[in-house]
Amino acid sequence: MIRELHEKLKNQKITAVKLTQDYFEKIKKTDPKIQAFLTLTEDLALKEAKLVDKKIKRGEEIDLLAGIPGAIKDNICVANVRTTAASKILDNYIAPDDATVIDRLKKSQAIILGKTNLDEFAMGSSTENSAYGPTRNPLDNERVVGGSSGGSAAAVAAGEAVWSLGSDTGGSIRQPASFCGVVGLKPTYGRVSRSGLIAMASSLDQIGPLANSVEDCAIVLSRIAGEDLLDATAAQSANKRYEDYLNGDIAGKKIGVPTEYLDGLDPEIRKIFDKSLEKFESLGAKIKLVSLPHTQYALATYYMIMPSEVSSNLARFDGVKFGLRINDKKDDVEENSENVNRSLLETYMDTRHYGFGREVKKRIMLGTFALSSGYYDAYYLKAQKIRTLIKKDFQEVLEKVDYIYTPTTPEIAFKLGEKTQDPLQMYLSDIYTITANLAGVPAISFPIGSIKAGEKNMPLGGQLMGKWFDEEGILNAAHSYEIN
Ligand code: GLN
Repeated sequence: MIRELHEKLKNQKITAVKLTQDYFEKIKKTDPKIQAFLTLTEDLALKEAKLVDKKIKRGEEIDLLAGIPGAIKDNICVANVRTTAASKILDNYIAPDDATVIDRLKKSQAIILGKTNLDEFAMGSSTENSAYGPTRNPLDNERVVGGSSGGSAAAVAAGEAVWSLGSDTGGSIRQPASFCGVVGLKPTYGRVSRSGLIAMASSLDQIGPLANSVEDCAIVLSRIAGEDLLDATAAQSANKRYEDYLNGDIAGKKIGVPTEYLDGLDPEIRKIFDKSLEKFESLGAKIKLVSLPHTQYALATYYMIMPSEVSSNLARFDGVKFGLRINDKKDDVEENSENVNRSLLETYMDTRHYGFGREVKKRIMLGTFALSSGYYDAYYLKAQKIRTLIKKDFQEVLEKVDYIYTPTTPEIAFKLGEKTQDPLQMYLSDIYTITANLAGVPAISFPIGSIKAGEKNMPLGGQLMGKWFDEEGILNAAHSYEIN
């Protein structure tokens, strides 16, 4: 789609301004129902679109992504634009700077339509944890979009944006991509700079693209990836034009299917998955059963490491440095009252009490406990050791096969409210996606079928995981699947 729009722009069949306006019109029509966006950046978008049109008129070269409208998850900073992370604590926060990925998108002259909804601070699997209300699945408004990058997935699925950026700490790009029938890529840890991403769990977070096709994801990734002085974990490995690697040929490639992921799989999902394996075989790939023996510990490991990092990262939201500050609640009591001079501690406590939602508070408390003296070795350190074993599983298997293939999710999009009272069921939604974050490998979700649910057909994604920094490999394999 990006290539086609690019040709139209270049040949002056459409202007970037008109294209951008069309998308805003679509958003205004569709978004009141699904609520993918938290903030629209119309001025910013149209200003850039005008610059692109001028360039085209002058006959200058433009980048493939120039003039193409996209949406940004609202935990990624865009300078001078409200950035909330879907939390009340950042309700009035205006980002002073661009995240590195935004800086790069602006250099490409991509159009930024606005900021999309998410679970508060990216904690959740349904976007129901947003302080601004849930996003609804465009394919069935009674169902969730997945999360936490739910707004970014919904915007693309509803045709409100051509591409979007999400962040993925335990599946937050891939799970909503699967629920909405779009493509989503979590790059290798370190492939994309995290500078300007509001941190959730720093050793797991990665920014990545969502779009309607694998090629579009590749095009966006090429523009945001690469080394960055502002993020020491952004790898120095050379960045690539990933779209140039999509030759559609996977003959002879070895695809490993981990048996642990098939145990107890829903029979309808199993059917779709088996069919997709046949398709890979018909394209010349070799399917091999493999084992990732520590998979059973992945969820527990993730829910120890992630909250520990969350509790540390979110300590900065204290009513002093960023966003909300509650220090005047009791000020209207009479003058000599002991409440007039509120202590700093009270400001911290009231700000955090009022500003954070339930899920966020729960994770901060869990993480603080896991890191506290006397428990650190038993919980956090142990989880780190198991993480190493999980990574080793991947290392061993990826020596024998080129890619690892699984369903992205154990289910299709569930109904709104279905799991809000049952955290374990909610957490299990990421059972197939968190291992890629723990191991740091790249992983892509792409549509492989759909299941009839009531009146609607709800999509399901397949997930390809690859060797560290082999984004071109999984993109090409998913692209081959998509075009055949
Ligand atoms: N759903 C997972 C969680 O709640 C993953 C979130 C994410 O990837 N940001 O932790």
